[in-house]
Amino acid sequence: MTATILDGNAIRDQIYAELQHEIAALRAAGIRPGLAAVLVGDNPASHVYVKSKIAACEKLGLGSWQLEPPKTSSTGALLEIIADLNQRDEVDGILVQLPLPPHVDAKRVLESVDPAKDVDGFHPLNLGRLVSGRPALVACTPSGVMEILRRSGIAIEGAQAVVLGRSDIVGKPMALLLMHANATVTICHSKTRDLAAVVCQADIVVAALGRTAMVVPDWIRPGATVIDVGINRVTDGREAARLFANFPLRLAQFRDKGSALVGDVHPDAAAVAGALTPVPGGVGPLTIAMLMSNTVKAARLRRGGALNASAAATPVHTAPANTSVKTGNI
Ligand code: NDP
Repeated sequence: MTATILDGNAIRDQIYAELQHEIAALRAAGIRPGLAAVLVGDNPASHVYVKSKIAACEKLGLGSWQLEPPKTSSTGALLEIIADLNQRDEVDGILVQLPLPPHVDAKRVLESVDPAKDVDGFHPLNLGRLVSGRPALVACTPSGVMEILRRSGIAIEGAQAVVLGRSDIVGKPMALLLMHANATVTICHSKTRDLAAVVCQADIVVAALGRTAMVVPDWIRPGATVIDVGINRVTDGREAARLFANFPLRLAQFRDKGSALVGDVHPDAAAVAGALTPVPGGVGPLTIAMLMSNTVKAARLRRGGALNASAAATPVHTAPANTSVKTGNI
């Protein structure tokens, strides 16, 4: 068997096409949804992620602001920045790029974001809404996984779903979304006994472990749907040769670049699974697409839900046509 590859880039493009209609309607009503990204420190991966998020805003015509307070910023200084963004009407979404420097109380900073602008879905109020089945703004990566499953026609209701990982950002909200979609969900973590035996039962496996290629083909029930959330950079030539033994093109690409991105699922799982998300090009593009979707949703929800006649008659903010600015240190 060779798995159907679930193309995250194609699904992202579908979502962007739908969002473009919604954004055009909002803009016709004088509303330009806008996202502010707070990036603290010089973590290279964080810079790449924020750059991609701002680029997505620009592509869709959303307002965007990138704030880069110095890496020495105290918790108090970051709380002040968030308080300012909370009260700025033209800002619909606030994202605090993680990780924050170790001296910062990250939980306090995340909890200071106005829940109505919490486009990452990390605020306890939004997590509580998700638990009680009344979600508003849901964490982007797990909601992106749901989009992949639904738009690819994968049956969720009644399925045995195994979520590998229990982080607040991925594993826990993922399990809740699958449960609300009527899957029977098992959550695994580092203390789970006999992971292989649990994964073998699954119709749907979502791997969010942060462990390179840990989920091997032997663990997967033939025909299962495998969603690989992990993003791990491999730089060791021998490791790459082992991982890509059956993928000569990927091995050649590794040799050209000196590194490759690999998920938490071994690439050979494609020979057993019924459907599989690739890394890169699977879940990753959906994470940013759902951030854009949440920003548009937040813009609508903050103005009373649907875009109605009164909203259309009352321009809510008047950001100029190109407000993607980098404000640097503030
Ligand atoms: P965390 O490190 O926060 O959580 C990892 C989870 O995996 C923990 O629950 C941990 O268990 C569990 N785990 C780790 N090792 C094992 C093991 N050997 N056996 C069983 N369970 C284990 O990671 P995140 O949830 O933030 O991210 C997971 C992966 O997803 C990473 O590779 C990350 O880069 C990627 N990611 C990708 C995104 C995308 O857009 N594609 C977005 C976000 C993350 P325990 O709780 O017991 O410690």
